[in-house]
Amino acid sequence: MASEFDNALLRLLLDKVHDGVYFVDTERRIQFWNKSAERITGYAAEDVGGKCCADNILVHIDEEGNHLCKGMCPLAATISDGQVREARVYLHHKSGHRLPVQVTVSPVYDPEGRILGGLETFFDATPMMAALEETERLREEALICPLTAIGNRRYAERMLAQKLDEMARGGTCLAVVMIDIDHFKKVNDTFGHDVGDVVLKMVASTMSAAMRSYDFLARWGGEEFIALLPSCDAANAVRIANRLRRLVAHASHDLNGDTIRATISVGVYLCGKGDTPASAVKQADRMLYESKQNGRNRVTVSG
Ligand code: GH3
Ligand code: MG
Ligand code: MG
Repeated sequence: MASEFDNALLRLLLDKVHDGVYFVDTERRIQFWNKSAERITGYAAEDVGGKCCADNILVHIDEEGNHLCKGMCPLAATISDGQVREARVYLHHKSGHRLPVQVTVSPVYDPEGRILGGLETFFDATPMMAALEETERLREEALICPLTAIGNRRYAERMLAQKLDEMARGGTCLAVVMIDIDHFKKVNDTFGHDVGDVVLKMVASTMSAAMRSYDFLARWGGEEFIALLPSCDAANAVRIANRLRRLVAHASHDLNGDTIRATISVGVYLCGKGDTPASAVKQADRMLYESKQNGRNRVTVSG
């Protein structure tokens, strides 16, 4: 059993967790409610302590408006079968509105293996929803590469024209970055096309996760990618390009004991006033070619 000190410390620690965390016993009565749960829902621990989670407090509904507390409650299901569950639900905020939250429910056992209840962690999914809706819209417009889930060439051409236009109308600078996987043919030849596809996905997600929110990344074709970095001087663009290059070099995919890695060569071009999409891509391509010539796994910048 945890000592009083452990309990107090645990409560303090859980209050520091950014996600909402609450614990219900096997009767689904709320026994613990952390500070983030208060912040996200508007309900203080005193409002909910000892109440049953189905007692008109959060009244989770799903996207179709089904009331989960009546029959489909993830907490009740987890307490009964011990399975971890994830769900997107809409909770009832104290001030009345519905808030999308991503919840994870886990069973909690005592040291003898008896079920004590369920632990739910949740976070405000509003930003995630906006991003998902945007991705869905782009998918409908056929602007997303189905394999890598980043933009496709059509999207890249559209964005490049738009960014150059913004620049011409007095906006800030724009760096165009061409990226090509090194010796990719060898990956396909050695491990097969399917593994080649996995490497393409690995490179794409490593890069997209490492970019600033207003940067843009797309698959230009084959094993080539393009990144558009607005508000970026040469030094910044090279710093970002090198970050992508290093992160890709440190990513790996395990395949039956083989560790498959990839490196990228990168060309960076800082656009000027008279540039068109074609001229900007051509210059970035020239820099990429130099990176290849000079030994690959490197970044070359124009000027
Ligand atoms: P370099 O370092 O000079 O760029 O060498 P490389 O082998 O990467 O370049 P090359 O242009 O010779 O080969 C590119 C390969 O990319 C050939 C092609 O089969 C492969 N490829 C293009 N698109 C896809 C794809 O969607 N999936 C897979 N698995 N391979 C692809
Ligand atoms: Mg290529
Ligand atoms: Mg290549």
